[in-house]
Amino acid sequence: MNEWVRGKVVAKRRWKDGLYSMQVDAPIADFTAGQFVKVALDIGGDRVGRPYSLVNPPQERPLEIYFNEIPEGPLTPRLSELEPGDPVWLSAAASGLFTLEGVAPGRELWLLATGTALGVYLSILRTPDPWRAFERVILVHGVRAADDLTYGETIQLLADAHGERFTFVPLVSREVHGEALAGRVTDLLVSGELERRVGVPIAPERSHVMLCGNSAMIKDARAILEGRGLVRRRGQTPGHYTTEHYH
Ligand SMILES: Cc1cc2nc3c(=O)[nH]c(=O)nc-3n(C[C@H](O)[C@H](O)[C@H](O)COP(=O)(O)OP(=O)(O)OC[C@H]3O[C@@H](n4cnc5c(N)ncnc54)[C@H](O)[C@@H]3O)c2cc1C
Repeated sequence: MNEWVRGKVVAKRRWKDGLYSMQVDAPIADFTAGQFVKVALDIGGDRVGRPYSLVNPPQERPLEIYFNEIPEGPLTPRLSELEPGDPVWLSAAASGLFTLEGVAPGRELWLLATGTALGVYLSILRTPDPWRAFERVILVHGVRAADDLTYGETIQLLADAHGERFTFVPLVSREVHGEALAGRVTDLLVSGELERRVGVPIAPERSHVMLCGNSAMIKDARAILEGRGLVRRRGQTPGHYTTEHYH
């Protein structure tokens, strides 16, 4: 049973048709970077809630979520119509285990996202934890079209703050775009092109990999990583990769 708190939209950013970030003021409990809240609206007499990763780091407010509108979905078409000042419900506490808690330190931390899953890593990357536990952090954002590459200012601030310890690799699958690698995360893992771009291999003795986004990518990437000897981390059981499925 969810306990809900009242929130208020304080800002909304429309990146392109159907792609939004929304900032919300709400008195939720402290959270760990990587966790999600439920966001809900009362629709036709029912409270319709869905989980969303928090994009803001735990020490910063307002809360922020990043989402795309699913035209046939019950919640997102209404969520995308909200304006500053509008009320919204949030779960009183965040949940989820897609965090760095319990992850063994290593040489490289790979953060692989498809689409709106980028947001969860922007929370994690704006805490000290990844920079304490890893020598290098590689953020990989896989999208279909170049205008799905969002949060450029935030990524630039991370690059300015962390220099050579931070590498951002955009992947665009349906068009050719500047410095972005062309193709899907899984194809670029199989071909080795992603690791060639970054200059280091993914291997159990040095890497931890976080995978977030669509289930097809995660399923295929898991098979590739396990083929290279990486083991999935589950709860307190140690491992080399961690997953979070959005859909
Ligand atoms: C732990 C967790 C965290 C999540 N965090 C986020 C987040 O930060 N940002 C975000 O955009 N979504 C996130 N999601 C998905 C989100 O909860 C909703 O499912 C999504 O926003 C659609 O809501 P809806 O009610 O409009 O449609 P739903 O009834 O939830 O879904 C309708 C259909 O769309 C598919 N779908 C859901 N999300 C997407 C998507 N992003 N792209 C394409 N198809 C999709 C579903 O599989 C389903 O077939 C998360 C899901 C989980 C389980």
